[in-house]
Order: sequence, then C-alpha cells, then structure tokens
Amino acid sequence: MKIAVIGGGPAGLYFAMLVRKRQPDWPVVVLEQNPPDATFGFGVVMADSGRNNLRLADEASHDALVRKMTFTDRQVITLNEQSIVVERPGKGGAIRRIDLLRVLQDAALREGVELRSGARLENLGQRADHGLADADILVGADGVNSIVRGGDEAGFDTRRSQLTNRFAWFGVGKAFATPALVFRKFQGGSFIAHYYPYTDENSTFVAECDDATWQQFGMERMSLDQRRELFEQVFAAELDGHPLLSNNSLWRQFPVIRNDRWVSGHKVLIGDAQTSAHFSIGSGTRIAMEDAIALAAAVCDAPGTAADKLRAFETQRRPEKDKLIGASERSYRWYEDIGDWMDRYSAHEFVYRFMTRTGRVSDARLASSYPQLYSELCSAGVVAAPA
Ligand SMILES: Cc1cc2nc3c(=O)[nH]c(=O)nc-3n(C[C@H](O)[C@H](O)[C@H](O)COP(=O)(O)OP(=O)(O)OC[C@H]3O[C@@H](n4cnc5c(N)ncnc54)[C@H](O)[C@@H]3O)c2cc1C
Repeated sequence: MKIAVIGGGPAGLYFAMLVRKRQPDWPVVVLEQNPPDATFGFGVVMADSGRNNLRLADEASHDALVRKMTFTDRQVITLNEQSIVVERPGKGGAIRRIDLLRVLQDAALREGVELRSGARLENLGQRADHGLADADILVGADGVNSIVRGGDEAGFDTRRSQLTNRFAWFGVGKAFATPALVFRKFQGGSFIAHYYPYTDENSTFVAECDDATWQQFGMERMSLDQRRELFEQVFAAELDGHPLLSNNSLWRQFPVIRNDRWVSGHKVLIGDAQTSAHFSIGSGTRIAMEDAIALAAAVCDAPGTAADKLRAFETQRRPEKDKLIGASERSYRWYEDIGDWMDRYSAHEFVYRFMTRTGRVSDARLASSYPQLYSELCSAGVVAAPA
C-alpha cells in the first residue's frame, strides 16, 4: 500500500508516523510546503483530556512532547476588571508549535517516513509531478485552506461559512503567570484577550473583537500596526509594557468548514482540512492528532480494499468527532454574542455561562470537577448548593 500525505502539520506527520510504525514496508510520503523550521503562530494548548490518547498511540512521541510542554493548573477569567480563578481538574499544557512539529518530524523520520519539505502541491492534477499519481491513498492533511478538499468539493460535499468576530494570533515575550481570558469593555467596544504561557519566557495571545467593535473603531481601515497598537492599549495592564509580537498575524474571521463526506475515491481528509475546530475550545491540535490515530488504525487494521479502509475510518470516527465539533460550534456561537453577554451578566454569572456554554459541563460536573469555583458561584447566588 503506497500512501501520500499532503501537509506536514500535526495531523499529517502523526498519521504518517503511526502507519509506518505498524507497516514498515509501506511507502509513506509527506509533502510539506514549508521548510522544516518554519511555523506560523506561537504556542498551542494541548488539553489534558486528550493527552492520554497520544500516550496510548505512541508513548515515545508523547513523552517527547510532554518534556517540551509548560503546564498550568488554573485559568483566570476577567470580566470588566473582576477576576475569577478557575482551578482545573487536570493540568493544562501548552507547547511551542515549532517544538510540536519538530518532535513529530523526528518521530516520522525515525519510522522511515519520506518527508519532503518545501514541496507544495498546487492542485490535484500536479500529483504526478511529485511521483504520487500511483498512491493507493491520498490524505488531505493540508489545513484549513486544503488543496485536496478544494480540488474535489463536490466529492466531499463541502459546506463553508464564516463567523463574524475578528481575531489575530500574536505572541508576547513574557510568560504570563496563568492562562487567562480577559473580556474588556473599552470606549464602548467589546474586546477579548485569550492568552497562555507556552515556555518560561513566551506566551500566545489571541486578540478578538466582535463585528460591532470592528466597525465602531474603523478597524477595517486601520493598518496592521494600528490594530496591534489598539489591542496593546486595551490590554496595557496585562501586557505590562510588552509589545504584541507579530508572526504572520493576520486578522481573520473564522472559517467554518464542514464536509458531508470525508472520503472521495481514494482521497480522505483529516484535521483542519476536514473540519475546522474553533480556537476557543483549545483543541484543534488534539482533534487533528486524534483524527490521525483513527485513520492510521483503520488503514492498518480494517479489512478490504483501500476504499473499504477509508469508509471504516469515517464510520468509526464520526460519532466522537461530531461530539467535539458540536462543542466547538456551541462555543463559537456563544462568542458571536459576546457584547451582549458582557453587558448583561455579573462576573460570576458570566463565568458560569462561559463554563457551561458547550453543553459538555453540567452543574453536577461543574460541582465535582471545579469544586472551588462551584462554591464561589454558590456564594454569589449563581448556582444552587449541592444537595
Ligand atoms: C488563532 C488560533 C489559535 C489556535 N490555538 C490553538 C490552541 O491553543 N490549541 C490547539 O490545539 N489548536 C489551536 N488552534 C488550531 C490549530 O492550529 C489547528 O487546529 C491544528 O494545527 C490543525 O492541524 P492540521 O495538521 O490539521 O493542520 P495545520 O496545522 O494547518 O497543518 C497543515 C500543514 O499543511 C501544509 N500545507 C498546506 N497546504 C499545502 C499544500 N498545498 N502542499 C503542501 N503542504 C501544504 C501547511 O504548511 C501545514 O504545515 C488555533 C488556531 C488558531 C487559528
């Protein structure tokens, strides 16, 4: 079985490594447009809940990732200058994206994956130029702007839409003491900072505002520097004199990508290429790597032809993935109305709404997993005391 993977991000690298580990005789080629040391963004969160799946799939790369991660056991949520500490049940980790990619590149190379960096697939017709025309399986792991998906939207039955909030991804040259979400009204606008440390000296800072704020401040007409300076002004207290650092930090509206079919012929989509997961649940990397685990298992273990194996992947993975993506959808819908929530609720009510926004955290789970927060919410009269 010859396998071609387009995209050497977390999904593509991890899938390629896992297949070679199980099937060392199968040729697996990964085409990655960037050189091996290039990356966008800064650090990504790798939630505690997903890490065990990585350990079960491949202990060596899991351990190598953990060694590079920075862990925290709490998050601070601030609404209009009132801060509430949320102690987490498990330790949340974050990792520099380039470290994540290096660990996965090394693991893939060790298993004999052929990783071709600096090689971009311009369109599906160009497969032959890369010697991939005879691949039995073509994996689209090429991210949110996937060429594999874009070249066959009818086959995948692709649907897309766009959220209205605007966001950009920055870095900060200091390690914040805890990850935080700061919701701030400033001159009538609704501004959000999501930030978290990912090394002893660096943090990621996602800047976001709703569309009404974007219009009110005339941000469409501002230069990139002016937008950055506005956020530095709004979050001056948190940044404490540190500038926001850009690295391809473009302002975007989040693209919602869904495919009614994940498989078309011998092509299959995983990770962001298949389903974009909103950054507010901090799980895009984890979901992409869990797709890779599920696809590698189906390709190696499911009986039958390549097409049978790809169908088995979709059948087995869809139910769990739908749950995760459902949570992501409820989360981004909540953020789309952020201006209203900020006006309407006290800080404690707001945090309660925030914690329960995806429907995955009931009052009972809030009480058992976040006892300190629950008791504070009880004292504030937001939830009932446990029976
Ligand atoms: C603002 C923001 C914050 C985020 N924060 C987090 C977070 O805290 N935690 C988290 O888990 N996730 C986060 N994410 C999401 C995370 O970045 C993605 O979900 C995750 O990287 C998806 O992995 P992937 O391998 O599917 O795609 P990608 O990481 O996008 O990788 C795709 C790869 O394919 C390559 N490629 C693309 N097109 C081609 C082509 N034509 N030919 C060859 N190569 C190609 C790209 O260069 C890239 O290396 C965030 C995303 C955003 C936008």
